[in-house]
Amino acid sequence: MSAVLPGSTVGIMGGGQLGRMFALSARRMGYRVHTLSPDTDTPAGQISDLEIRAGFEDLDAVGDFARGVDVVTFEFENVPAAAAEHAARYAPVRPDGSVLHIAQHRVREKEFLSGAGFPVAPFRVVRSECELRDAVAAIGCPAVLKTAGFGYDGRGQAMVSRPEEAPAAWQSIGGGEAVLEGYIDFAREVSVVAARGMDGEFAHYGVVENRHRHHILDATLAPAAPHAEAVEIARAILEKLRVTGVLAVEFFIGRDGSAMVNELAPRPHNSGHFSIDACVTSQFEQQLRSVCGLPLGSTAQLRPAAMVNLLGDLWENGEPDWAAACAEPEVKLHLYGKSEPRRGRKMGHLTALGANPEAALERALKARRGVARCEMIESER
Ligand code: AMP
Repeated sequence: MSAVLPGSTVGIMGGGQLGRMFALSARRMGYRVHTLSPDTDTPAGQISDLEIRAGFEDLDAVGDFARGVDVVTFEFENVPAAAAEHAARYAPVRPDGSVLHIAQHRVREKEFLSGAGFPVAPFRVVRSECELRDAVAAIGCPAVLKTAGFGYDGRGQAMVSRPEEAPAAWQSIGGGEAVLEGYIDFAREVSVVAARGMDGEFAHYGVVENRHRHHILDATLAPAAPHAEAVEIARAILEKLRVTGVLAVEFFIGRDGSAMVNELAPRPHNSGHFSIDACVTSQFEQQLRSVCGLPLGSTAQLRPAAMVNLLGDLWENGEPDWAAACAEPEVKLHLYGKSEPRRGRKMGHLTALGANPEAALERALKARRGVARCEMIESER
């Protein structure tokens, strides 16, 4: 299959910040970009040549969008399978819709991972309160109940610390199909962002450490201590799914050093944002190269780095002081063009470079405190 070359048009399904950073890479390399999402003036749409506003269930609009581009990719995994399939009638869709189908549903994801022999937390699929009771008995407490679909950043999750809490947990996630997972007393959380080219070429950004607050990624340190098994698991997952594009694998690292897969994201990932400022090829350019059938770029990291997210909480006392962030010469400011700074909403991020990842993190946190216009920002409390 021939490559989709600069000058061609890439289509992104979804209008969020991942699409925005992808679009920036694509435009830098001379591509045109069309986006499809249910909103207007989206983070990705602002950077695109054409922003199409339509719901993903509007297959006529999906068809028109796909006819107008040379290749289609995604910036979030909750695009319905029917939309991906419909788009594929008119343009190559990469990664294939089947990858989305697995990654957008926790039951399918867990069953794929455990069926293929990848290490995951003990789990049971539950479809009723009665099944939940049995699952709690089988897995034990503490455990985490997670909805099967459309959960992210800890949404649609409930802790079950004691069996008596099961009914309330079931209510709180709104019932439906779910997964009960054993609570893992991990030592740290890491991820591996990796890419697979159309010809099977593999590249990865090494192991990075992720620190969460209130279930939302707060900071990433890159590089983290090497973990060959995690990289090998990521490689095997991309190969097994025959991914064309970027896929991130989130891991729990146990106190004994073993790696357990938590989640897959079949797209660039928040924990890979550092690559924009710290690597030869960013995760977004890598996705572009991959879905366009170009050779992958070097993932070499030029400097140790840390990324911290800028959540809507930061706007509590008015517009943050962006000039303060720019006063740190080794801190890079990224804002996503979102107008409504809601609490917990990812509005942007800072990447700091440093002599080592911890020093970079200190610099990034200092810069974040500097822009916050208050002593301590909500996400650090
Ligand atoms: P998720 O949306 O599944 O990635 O979960 C968000 C965060 O909740 C993870 O990054 C962990 O910090 C925490 N978490 C999720 N599942 C578990 C688990 N089984 N054991 C311990 N912590 C968990």
